Amino acid sequence: MAERTPIIAGNWKMHKTIEEARAFAGAVAAKLPQKNVDAVICAPFTALPSLVEELGGKAVGIGAQNMHWEESGAFTGEISPVMLNELRIEYVILGHSERRQYFAETDETVNKKVKAAFAHNLTPIVCVGEDLQQRESGQTKEFVREQVMKAGEGLSSADAKKLIIAYEPIWAIGTGKSSTADDAQDVIGFIRGTVADAFDQQVANEVRIQYGGSVKPDNIASYMAQPDIDGALVGGASLEAVSFLKLIEAVVGGNQS
Ligand code: PGA
Repeated sequence: MAERTPIIAGNWKMHKTIEEARAFAGAVAAKLPQKNVDAVICAPFTALPSLVEELGGKAVGIGAQNMHWEESGAFTGEISPVMLNELRIEYVILGHSERRQYFAETDETVNKKVKAAFAHNLTPIVCVGEDLQQRESGQTKEFVREQVMKAGEGLSSADAKKLIIAYEPIWAIGTGKSSTADDAQDVIGFIRGTVADAFDQQVANEVRIQYGGSVKPDNIASYMAQPDIDGALVGGASLEAVSFLKLIEAVVGGNQS
């Protein structure tokens, strides 16, 4: 069985000014464990330089929440992978359900962005997940399989291994109605099987898959106890330094070997 380092990523969404981001960085900088976990903060573009300044090289990775796939061009309002490289960040969330829902992100644009991320040495955190109607009509696996297949289309195995997939059922995001750990494991195990079908078993063993959707310090341990769940993508509970640190501690506490 592959040793996969757990990864806890905060998704700040459209929260925090530069000043607020600096305050958060100051509160977590000295307190993050150096090993057994990858801690990441995905912040609004404007807060990224200050986070890199305050936290760069200090046991926390910094990420964006979206980007365009082209390096430059007539794409008003967009940010390119080259621009993210210039900020020295490492991660980028791609295909979050809010971007699919409100900003017309599709499986095709997600795939272009995933390829662009790897071409520019950024690690993509690719979000997939069904809505309530799909869940209730039993279409979850079929839908998520399609999203995973399309996001990874055309990737080399070497790149595919470095993918981070976040399984986030839409009905669980920001609602307090988190998936049960067993249900999350069921879909995430299925996603790992999908990765094996799309690439091979070795890629499937190495790829890291997170659960996301109302993860909190008091429920994260139940997800981490599952064999296929390698971490979490966390919105609301990542905004306060104390809560973010508790999430990380919960993972490290259960992962000391
Ligand atoms: P939540 O958001 O933790 O606030 O439910 C998760 C996400 O949207 O990534």
